[in-house]
Amino acid sequence: MAFVLTPDMLLCPDCRSDRIAAQEGPPAGFKCGACGTFIERRGPVINAVPKTLSGNTTANLGHYEEMANSSDSLLDRRAKTRNHRIKFETIMGILGLGGDGPKKSVFEVGAGAGTHGAEFARIGHHYVGLDLSATALYRAARQNAALADAPLLAGDATRIPLRDNLFDTVFCVATLHHLPEPLDGLREMVRVLKPGGIFCFMEPRWCYPTQLYGYFQHPDVEVGTFKVMAGRLLRALRQCGVSELGVRCCVYTPNSPLFLIPAYDLVDRVCAAVPPLHALSVVRCMHGVK
Ligand SMILES: [Zn+2]
Repeated sequence: MAFVLTPDMLLCPDCRSDRIAAQEGPPAGFKCGACGTFIERRGPVINAVPKTLSGNTTANLGHYEEMANSSDSLLDRRAKTRNHRIKFETIMGILGLGGDGPKKSVFEVGAGAGTHGAEFARIGHHYVGLDLSATALYRAARQNAALADAPLLAGDATRIPLRDNLFDTVFCVATLHHLPEPLDGLREMVRVLKPGGIFCFMEPRWCYPTQLYGYFQHPDVEVGTFKVMAGRLLRALRQCGVSELGVRCCVYTPNSPLFLIPAYDLVDRVCAAVPPLHALSVVRCMHGVK
């Protein structure tokens, strides 16, 4: 069953008012009773991107709109890699979403191509995805039948247009380092999580060659690269009052060349099993309970 996003769960992306009412179409959507902002709903996509964005956020939006409009989308190619799979399984384990347990609400920030979301929706969880790019979300809905009924919210991760304490679980994969101040996004994700809910945030390490290359190619998009160190994020999470904090390391090897994958799998397993080698991981996953 899909998550039902009701007007009382929304906040106005412009004035943050909770006076939101549904509006039957056309155009269908929601209207802010305080400032008059109209939030359009087309299929599963709810467009709640604020009217004004910071300079870096505008750069990110342009970058991801372009990627989502391209036929050979990097988002799609990434979605099919083994490293994507490793991340998915790590998130599923931490959030307790595997097996035959009760179905939970799952909120993802930086939903992109919708790959993780579609997998969680397929196994019966109540998924809601947020992404800055509405174009990416339309594409995710078209390409993943499992997301046909899942609310996909276009919005700013540093001002999530949702009220507090909504979800059982919250996660994001490599999204915080796109924010001018990653801690703004981190606090927002904790805010929308229910008390007792579980979160996990995955971020690449700044010193990994591909991340540094990405930063020098698009410094305005990879703007928070040097602000997502595990220690810094954990300190901020402690200040949010969350508990059971931990860091999980995963992904130690690249995706190519293909003939090396069996060797990479072996290296990944050895690194995961030997704690001193965890320092070599590409991805750090901060997790805990609100
Ligand atoms: Zn408003």
